[in-house]
Amino acid sequence: MTMTNASTKVSGGATPAPVLKPDVLYSGDNGRLFCGAHAGQSAKYTGRDISGQRVHVVTADDVAEARREYEVELACERCGMQPPLVVLR
Ligand SMILES: [Zn+2]
Repeated sequence: MTMTNASTKVSGGATPAPVLKPDVLYSGDNGRLFCGAHAGQSAKYTGRDISGQRVHVVTADDVAEARREYEVELACERCGMQPPLVVLR
């Protein structure tokens, strides 16, 4: 019985893990767009922005549709990150 499972569960740590991923684009209240790295602290750690609204994942399909339908680019307001387009064959 020498198995260790120390790293599988970390509770009560000093730094909570963000629930938003830095390589995913999200939309929040008022249509703001941000990647996981540039989300507000509230959204980043709870998945809800400061007004309590749940943030939504913006997919590559959303980006493509906005580009096609509205001629706008959906991207992080801070760094311009866009979700990578997954090409299905
Ligand atoms: Zn960003």
